[in-house]
Amino acid sequence: MQEPYYDGIVIHFGELWLKGKNRKDFISLLERNIKSALGQEFGERLERLRDRMVLNVHSEDEVIHCERVLSKVFGISWYAPFRKSDSSIEAIVEKANSFFQGGESVRIEPHRALKSIGFDSKEIVAAFIHGTEKLNFVPEKDGKETLYIDVLENFSMLHKDRVKGAGGLPVGASGKAVVLLSGGIDSPVAAYYAMKRGLKPIFVHFYALQSYEELKSSKIPELLDVLLKYSGNAKVYYIPVHMFQIAAMKEDQKYEVVLFKRFIFETADRIAKIEKAKVMVTGESLGQVSSQTAENLKATSNGIETLFFRPLVGFDKQEIIDASMRLGFYPISIKPYKDACSLRSRNPVTRISPKALEAIYDRNGMGELPEISISKARVEFVP
Ligand code: ATP
Ligand code: MG
Repeated sequence: MQEPYYDGIVIHFGELWLKGKNRKDFISLLERNIKSALGQEFGERLERLRDRMVLNVHSEDEVIHCERVLSKVFGISWYAPFRKSDSSIEAIVEKANSFFQGGESVRIEPHRALKSIGFDSKEIVAAFIHGTEKLNFVPEKDGKETLYIDVLENFSMLHKDRVKGAGGLPVGASGKAVVLLSGGIDSPVAAYYAMKRGLKPIFVHFYALQSYEELKSSKIPELLDVLLKYSGNAKVYYIPVHMFQIAAMKEDQKYEVVLFKRFIFETADRIAKIEKAKVMVTGESLGQVSSQTAENLKATSNGIETLFFRPLVGFDKQEIIDASMRLGFYPISIKPYKDACSLRSRNPVTRISPKALEAIYDRNGMGELPEISISKARVEFVP
């Protein structure tokens, strides 16, 4: 069998409605993100053409490796390993042959980038139909496989394995977001959807473990490893919660969950201001657990200036689990971990008013905890 051989991977971007300067910035940002995801060795081989990019990789191993990286870069609509030919009909037909060997049924899908090219799409298809005796495959209108032929000015690109990209907008295109990351199933999935719409995450994790060293050997850095494949480099705040826990012990256990939420949202709000992030992202859904009611969401986030995004609000738990599996978080999310909020109460309050929550929060001096806790945070930049 002939050695698989490619001239590169062609990368197309989506959201084509973006116009003018926006579009230029969008493409430059996408280029930077792709380069940083690929790392130096492969990043240097990225080339920008007018309305697509080309990654100059050739062997099957390189292609597989780079496709895996590209599949996690937001802003890419599709990519495909291609082979190059001269932009003459004869050269195109000859190159097309190299993709097939067993009489496959193939639909020919030509596309001309410029109308000034001396022949049109119909002529390309006609050349295949009329030259069937020279072909390793059978050109058919409803062919099982599709061979795409992109005729550019100086050369043509032929490919058959188009892969759908991650879609969305390049991370950073929509500014920064503080992402509240627990060790659970929901928040990494919420982070994924926020990043997909171009938000650059600043991860904030509240931990109940005894020490930072213990935290670093827990599953949290593992989870971040997977998230960073989508986000690129990111800042992480690790915030100890023991002071909150001590303060909360004075209250009825049924308030612990809402007090904890209030505390983490106020802390995240401050971090958002420090980091100039416009948005805060949580993995909350509606009615998933008895404490996630509209009333509680209102009370815990009442008066907080940073805009809340809760991307999972319309998801069923099973849908979140399916997404978590598909995205690679699930095996880590289900590993045991000491939760920051012990959820001691079996009957957490389900409908607290903003006023009532504020009164309980204030009488325990919790208003001061966000600032103190941030001063005790470990802040890291993960390249
Ligand atoms: P998850 O699966 O994300 O832990 P959950 O179903 O356990 O969510 P809650 O415990 O109510 O739900 O948490 C709701 C959201 O609050 C989380 O999705 C996350 O965004 C945030 N959160 C909870 N615990 C922490 C934590 N220790 N550090 C940072 N954020 C947290
Ligand atoms: Mg949780």
